[in-house]
Amino acid sequence: MKTIGLLGGMSWESTVDYYRGINTGIKQALGGLHSARIVLYSVDFQPIERLQHAGDWPAAGRLLADAAGSIEAAGADCLLLCTNTMHKVADEIEHAVSIPFLHIADPTAAALAADGVEKVGLLGTGFTMEQDFYKGRLRDLHGLDVIVPGDDDRQAVHDIIYQELCQGSILPESKQRYLGIIEGLARQGAQAVILGCTEIGLLVKQADTAVPLYDTTRLHVECAVDFALARGQTPYGV
Ligand code: GLU
Repeated sequence: MKTIGLLGGMSWESTVDYYRGINTGIKQALGGLHSARIVLYSVDFQPIERLQHAGDWPAAGRLLADAAGSIEAAGADCLLLCTNTMHKVADEIEHAVSIPFLHIADPTAAALAADGVEKVGLLGTGFTMEQDFYKGRLRDLHGLDVIVPGDDDRQAVHDIIYQELCQGSILPESKQRYLGIIEGLARQGAQAVILGCTEIGLLVKQADTAVPLYDTTRLHVECAVDFALARGQTPYGV
């Protein structure tokens, strides 16, 4: 079994799901007392959140690239960055290591393609919904037509992530707000909605809506398990 490197803590509330999900996947595959081989580097999120909102992405990139180097030095065979937003600096991180970097958007796009989805809604932080680093990859590399909510709804989605979900607060009124926004995206023609923030799955579940949801955390976890077991299902040639 290969060793999975996780660069997490953004926030730790969702990194818990990575740790649990990857171990659960390995146990399901191998049984008994098997568990995943994981190197986890969990950062202090506060300074990173400050750099994000100050727009100092180069400093955030350097910080995460250093952490990525430590993960490789500790013996990881691959690297997962456990947040969609910080894929803004994916290139810096990828260049800092020689192990494969499993980009979170790729298994998500592969799942959408397998299900024949062409037009998809995207929920995430304002950075993820508004900037091109994530939507651009889905569009240019994977041929997806990506739509996002309007101004007020994007602000609500963003605020709920930072002020509630990243702080462990799961509120029913926020869930209803998200579900309304998801329905709105479906009315605009989205065949499915990407939960493009690793905490959203803590708030909204597939059972809550008829709109197909693609949870980036779950899909990223499955990709990591496939890599660890060399099942050949990843787009990384392993
Ligand atoms: N975990 C979130 C994401 O997937 C947001 C926190 C962050 O800004 O990294 O985008």
